[in-house]
Amino acid sequence: MAESKAGHALIRQTPVTLLALTRHHVEPHEEDWFARCRSDYLRSFPLTLLELVRLAALLLLVGPSTSTAFTCAALAGCALVVGIELAVRQRETKPDLSQSLALRYRKTGIGLRTLCWSAILGWAIVVAPQGHTHELASLGLAMMVIDGISILTLPHLALASVFASGGALVAGAITREGLAGTAPVAVIVLLLASFLHWSIYNLYYLFATRRIRTKRLAQSHETISLLLNQYDDEGSDWLYEIDARGHISNPSPRFCDACGIEAAQLGGMPLTALFHEGVHLQELQDKLQRGESFRDLILPLMACGEERWWSISGRLVDQLRGERGGWRGFIADVSEAKRAEARISHMAHFDLLTGLPNRTLFNATLERTMMRLSARRTAGMLFVDLDHFKEINDGYGHAAGDALLIEVGRRLEQVVRHGDMVARIGGDEFVVLLPDLSSHEECLEIGQRLLEVLAMPLEIDGQAMPIGASIGAAFAPENGTTGDELLRAADLAMYEAKLGGRNGISTFNANMREQMQERRDLATGLRNAIRSDQLEIHYQPLVDLSTGQTGGYEALVRWNHPSRGLLGPDLFIPIAEESRLIVELGEWVLRNALAEAARWPDHLTIAINVSPAQMRDKSFLPLVTHALASSGVLPDRLELEITESLFIQNRDEVIDLLHSIRKMGVRISLDDFGTGYSSLKYLHAFPFDKIKIDRSFIAGLLDREDCQAIVQSVITLANDLDIRTTAEGVENDGQLEALRRQGCAQVQGFLFSGAVPSQNLPFERKDSQREPVRRDTLVELAHRSDRDAAIVGGSTDRRKRQEKHRAKSVGNQPRANAGR
Ligand code: C2E
Ligand code: CA
Ligand code: CA
Repeated sequence: MAESKAGHALIRQTPVTLLALTRHHVEPHEEDWFARCRSDYLRSFPLTLLELVRLAALLLLVGPSTSTAFTCAALAGCALVVGIELAVRQRETKPDLSQSLALRYRKTGIGLRTLCWSAILGWAIVVAPQGHTHELASLGLAMMVIDGISILTLPHLALASVFASGGALVAGAITREGLAGTAPVAVIVLLLASFLHWSIYNLYYLFATRRIRTKRLAQSHETISLLLNQYDDEGSDWLYEIDARGHISNPSPRFCDACGIEAAQLGGMPLTALFHEGVHLQELQDKLQRGESFRDLILPLMACGEERWWSISGRLVDQLRGERGGWRGFIADVSEAKRAEARISHMAHFDLLTGLPNRTLFNATLERTMMRLSARRTAGMLFVDLDHFKEINDGYGHAAGDALLIEVGRRLEQVVRHGDMVARIGGDEFVVLLPDLSSHEECLEIGQRLLEVLAMPLEIDGQAMPIGASIGAAFAPENGTTGDELLRAADLAMYEAKLGGRNGISTFNANMREQMQERRDLATGLRNAIRSDQLEIHYQPLVDLSTGQTGGYEALVRWNHPSRGLLGPDLFIPIAEESRLIVELGEWVLRNALAEAARWPDHLTIAINVSPAQMRDKSFLPLVTHALASSGVLPDRLELEITESLFIQNRDEVIDLLHSIRKMGVRISLDDFGTGYSSLKYLHAFPFDKIKIDRSFIAGLLDREDCQAIVQSVITLANDLDIRTTAEGVENDGQLEALRRQGCAQVQGFLFSGAVPSQNLPFERKDSQREPVRRDTLVELAHRSDRDAAIVGGSTDRRKRQEKHRAKSVGNQPRANAGR
């Protein structure tokens, strides 16, 4: 198709006539070139040799003795023809001669030659001896053919030469034999001339079209390669060419630079050898093998010592310049895009902060592990939840929290084995997947080591702080056959570890599922319990050591569960705290405990526990005011027990609130002292009326030196600050004696009494409620200055001493904490 179209363009008209075959469209600037092509063809024939052979044949056939005149004429004619040929050649060598003019000289020369030889041929036929006329006629015919073909690039002249030779042959024959005898020769000459006419014009057509087309093709190749080179130099991509075997041919300088390989080495190298193994390389190899084109195959490779990605496309080109087919295409460096893609994928699978796998990647790995679980080996999971992370994060700021999480991730990774996976799946939740365990012990040992490395203190804000974690362990397939089940089992076990006093490890057991269900049931039941009067308050005495008298009672809530009997607060307060239920529950306790205390003798105080969530509730202050007012209990009989965890969030706001409460005359006690991280720090933040030393220290008072030291230093410090101390959990006389010696003011514990229902209290309760305190009295109390605070147990002197001590010792305090 393409060829016929191109051919069409080369000829001015459709070649319906033979003449049209001799007309070619040659651009004016190509004329010289085309003339040279034609001359080149002419020169390619050994014309001089031909002339000599022709002369020799004529002389031989005519015979030198037949006609001296003819012999002389033939020799002279041949000399003339050769002379002209040499002269033309001579002219042609002139450097400034245009090819068209040279061709014109050739035409003239050939024209003269034709005339010359035609005349000699005619003469030879006339004078030749009788026996040689046939040979001469044959020579004449041969001359027609040879002359016609040898100059076919001058088609009209060639035709003229054919007719001249033919004419001379016929004319000679007529002269010799007469008209009648010449008829057969004339017919043969005419037929041959017609045939030659047809042949010459067609051959010339082929010659001309072929030359012109080749030139055009070369031109377009040149243009294309020019454009391609430009593309190669300026574009961001580069071109390449490979042969039928897939070997690189003619690598461009850019291609070489991109590979960092010398051209000599790159040329001939298999293209596929550049790339790393992979699915796409396989695809490329398949395409090359099957001889197909390909598009946008993205392949990784090492180029110039760097990991890079190339996108490669190639089109099959067949029969390229007569060679076997191959491929041509371009390569684009897509490393940047690939890297961005990798970053995005990384972000989707890894935690940005710690760089650990995230929940998505973890879940996928977990599912794979569960599927591959073999019968002989087990997989383990450790669910690691940091203790007190929220407090640290809120208390020290998010930067500190982040630093802590990063450090935790680092430490966890240090401990696990090769092939285990550490992932961060939530705020402070990490999981370790141990896909291949020989025994449960192996997993628990790793868990234990995790606890050890996490317990090593981490410096935050200039304070060394142990991280501490609760770990739950679960195993597959025993505790779960799907990833989800296993994760939930480990989570439950972790919850159990938390309940078990934190910084420990629990292994999952089937009961935990029930316990979780139980906790859920409790949460549902508790809401109802508050409204349907299932809660009750028991009271535990607080005994003054100096007098041995009960100074007051601590209100401790109980749940009279319809089916499970009396439940202790440790069982349901944490559940209430997890929901907002604690606010409602706390209000109920506050109002009822105050109503109860209103019926007690006036010297007895009432201590009520307050959870942080309650205090953070905006309505807490009005609630206290209202509860006091409606019960009629004077504020100085009320002690609110708070824990230091309250301070961790919005410290300043909390302190302001405590001051407001205190101004009313209500006393504030710091409960469970020593169990938190920085109990001492908070002593300086607020002037507490009382410290309650946690019962874990009292339990160790007689046999643990650290407990003794802590208790002693707390009491000394509190006395210095003029803060009263209450020791919790006193169970025996030994503890009591030790506390007395150390100067503790108040004790609480089973040694005296556990918490008892109000009706069991060892004193006469007033029958009717006293007149409630009026609200305005409370408001007035709240506005009293510190000078008048004697009524609430403080004195100006005491306050001043506390202030002085605080100023002296603000700074790093050793942590008063003993592990439970
Ligand atoms: P807590 O404030 O430290 O209360 C003292 C706990 O120690 C009480 O446990 C009490 O029964 C127990 N206890 C007293 N003497 C001894 C003793 O000699 N030895 C031992 N081993 N334990 C003793 P309970 O009543 O189970 O209360 C547990 C915790 O529940 C309380 O600890 C308190 O934090 C919380 N709680 C109790 N009632 C309320 C409440 O109304 N509101 C809030 N927010 N929390 C409450
Ligand atoms: Ca308490
Ligand atoms: Ca306590």
